[in-house]
Amino acid sequence: PAAMESPPHVAVVAFPFGSHVPHLFAVARALASAAPSATFSFLSTAASLARLPSAAVVPANLRFVEMPSGRGCEGDEEKAPLWRRIEMFVDAAEAGGLRQALETARVAVGGATVTCVVGDALMSMAAEAGVPWVAVWTSSPCLLLAYLSGDALREDIGDHGACDELLTAHAGLGFYRVRDLPYLGRVTSGSSGDMRNVMGLLFGRVAWRLPRAATAIAMNAFPGLFPPDVTAAIAGALPTTCLPISIGPYHLLPGAPTAAPPAQDPHGCLHWLTRHPARAVAYVSFGTVAAPQPGELRELAFGLEASGAPFLWSLREDAWPLLPPGFLDRAKASASGLIVPWAPQDAVLRHASVGAFVTHAGWGSVTEAMSGGVPMMNARAVERLWCFGTVLDEDAPMTRGGVAKAVASVLAGEEGVRMRARARDLQARVVEAFGHDGGSTSNFNKFVEIVCAAPIL
Ligand code: UDP
Repeated sequence: PAAMESPPHVAVVAFPFGSHVPHLFAVARALASAAPSATFSFLSTAASLARLPSAAVVPANLRFVEMPSGRGCEGDEEKAPLWRRIEMFVDAAEAGGLRQALETARVAVGGATVTCVVGDALMSMAAEAGVPWVAVWTSSPCLLLAYLSGDALREDIGDHGACDELLTAHAGLGFYRVRDLPYLGRVTSGSSGDMRNVMGLLFGRVAWRLPRAATAIAMNAFPGLFPPDVTAAIAGALPTTCLPISIGPYHLLPGAPTAAPPAQDPHGCLHWLTRHPARAVAYVSFGTVAAPQPGELRELAFGLEASGAPFLWSLREDAWPLLPPGFLDRAKASASGLIVPWAPQDAVLRHASVGAFVTHAGWGSVTEAMSGGVPMMNARAVERLWCFGTVLDEDAPMTRGGVAKAVASVLAGEEGVRMRARARDLQARVVEAFGHDGGSTSNFNKFVEIVCAAPIL
């Protein structure tokens, strides 16, 4: 039929919170470069689109379309707590907001019907948009496995909520404990309880819709990163109609800038790093959402000072008043510490001066640390599965002693040497995955075919 011959119009739909938008943008940019005759519309809220780096390179066949944020009136969006903003946005998208944005996208390109939605898995209402849906998972593939095993897992968790038992009865999840899997445990009261309710509902919908409606799900990992039992368990948790396909890490997909231009390093982190010897600096960041408790923040600050190592700390400015008195001044005066509200993390982790990464271990940070070959702290899979990091003060609040000891041992101890060798090994495997015949490269080519060949429903 004639309609099948017209070039595809692909809508890439972001989940406009935390680190999700940059991931989806990296996927959209790579798709648009790989399929120049197709049209791509990138859907996200106005506020999240405004946060994309101004220097981002945008292919000519990729355009932006605003999605409704669901907020009651102008200004509410920034004031409401995150869980409430997520709730408002998702409710609006479920109630027709996504369909409306797809229609806006169609009109904006002269009437070309959207042939495929490539959507963040959290935007699972895409299942009901009447268009083929290819999902994108931004977090750890093991977390997807946990949500897909939801009911069985929840039965196991039962009333004992945040427990320490290893999930050995669940294929592919044996090295995790219940407490390692967010939004699966018992709902608590208070604002963190609200976040759990909202995210629990969201992930529940994903687990229900994804196997039924998505034709494929992209993974932010390279093939072979996880042991075969994990990969087999993920494939086994999905029907054959939904193909899990590892095309990542997303930040290395084709089309990504190779170096951070100065505009993306407004606080001069990269320049500051050049003043320090190789592998001497500890880089500290807790991602876009997590915030250590005030007490822990102080302990971390004292611990960094006590380690004697130079440190670069990306910390949101609203948390600066919680730092110990005089900390900022001491760091500045001694030039041993740089505290910034934002750092070009990927470029920082590739810098030769960075020798350790203190992190909350969000999946984006884990994959970037692997690509940068930098040992990290604070993560279970990183410690148990890939052995390129150590968990800092497990299950207890961070202490200055724990921080100082861990930083010093990763930067200068024997353990650090072993971790660095493992990190370098992972880095080499990431590079290989993106080589000409590498696993991520060939999977990405297959992914482009799936996305562009989607039948018109
Ligand atoms: N990031 C950054 N600069 C910062 C802090 C964070 O570039 O100063 C980026 C980081 O590179 C990563 C993302 O923000 O891609 C954080 O994602 P992650 O999955 O680690 O954590 P989340 O924010 O989702 O908890």
